[in-house]
Amino acid sequence: MNVNLAEFKLLGIDVKVHWSFVLVLAFGAFLYGSGPAGWLIGGLYGVVTMLLLFASVTLHEYGHALTARRFGIGTRSILLLPIGGVANLERIPEKPGQEIAIVAAGPLVNLAISVLLTPFVLLLNGGNGAGVFTMNAVNANIQSPGLLNLLVFLISTNLLLAIFNLLPAFPLDGGRLLRALLAYVRPYPQATQIAVVVGRLLAVSMAVYGIFTGAIGLLLIAFFVYVGGSAELEAVSSRVVLRRFRASDALTHNAITLYTSERLERVTQLIMNSYQIDYPVRDLAGRFVGVLTRPRLIDALREYGPDARIVDVMLPAASVPRCASSSDLATVWEMMGRTGSRVVAVATQDQVMGIITSDDISEVFQVMGAALEADRRPPAPPANRTETQEMHGYI
Ligand SMILES: [Zn+2]
Repeated sequence: MNVNLAEFKLLGIDVKVHWSFVLVLAFGAFLYGSGPAGWLIGGLYGVVTMLLLFASVTLHEYGHALTARRFGIGTRSILLLPIGGVANLERIPEKPGQEIAIVAAGPLVNLAISVLLTPFVLLLNGGNGAGVFTMNAVNANIQSPGLLNLLVFLISTNLLLAIFNLLPAFPLDGGRLLRALLAYVRPYPQATQIAVVVGRLLAVSMAVYGIFTGAIGLLLIAFFVYVGGSAELEAVSSRVVLRRFRASDALTHNAITLYTSERLERVTQLIMNSYQIDYPVRDLAGRFVGVLTRPRLIDALREYGPDARIVDVMLPAASVPRCASSSDLATVWEMMGRTGSRVVAVATQDQVMGIITSDDISEVFQVMGAALEADRRPPAPPANRTETQEMHGYI
């Protein structure tokens, strides 16, 4: 089901606008339409205002995404929701300096917008800037269409965006900055843990404040801060364990290999008689030519029956991501997340040694993680996501 109102690509990044964004536009139309300008002009002005507000949110996300790109971290998508924007980065930058730069870029964009627009307000208002920014003046003028009022609105909301996102509520920008600063003096997982606890305290305060003032947006953000913080803490701890192992450690040495000319019937037998559920496929010269995964086998059995040849239904080698045998498992896990593949081929310079599946990694994680932390509670298997979500409220 497509839940997006619109999707477009800008500077190589997919931007997705969630359907509920319609509610934001309707809210803008209603808020401004009930003002002195009347339903038509006021309503249109309201829609334009909301679009410009979300253009500011989008630019904030691009601040993160384009800075991340400088460090070689891609962005899968930028998602626009009524409560703000989310930039899905491919991975979490681990060097504190990189994280600080990526995180700071978002609020700095909003700050820059405010600073750049201010001279125009002075120009339109005969050099008197301060008067239009008082709470009373903003409230009195907000519903009246006009360039000056629009500029005042954008300057104040961009300032608010910068300030709100700098609250130390991990995973909001401020919480990420806190984590990155702590990471200079504490191990990374511990820095994350402290930032998550501070974030939770703030989330609870936000929720209480939201309940008493009826600010629904704040309640939702509090919820995301709470849940998002926990998810990222889990991802960080998984990565610490996985980083200690190489791809070659996770290879099953007596793994069963299939040959191109064999039929699906053999695999069905194998699956019933062994624990292996994904198989490397080689040609008669022993070259790696593809992979047959269990989901693929089930589809193929349904479609072609047990007599079909493996070569006709396997995933060809070209579509299987590859890693070096010296890559650490955290990198392999990230590769699976990024490519959406449950299998990665482990290769030396000229030949494929074997395959690693997401099940292999879960297994290494559970067994070795438990052994490494023998005196603590056993860790949860790694969450099946590696991206980080830069989340932003816009109130
Ligand atoms: Zn941000």
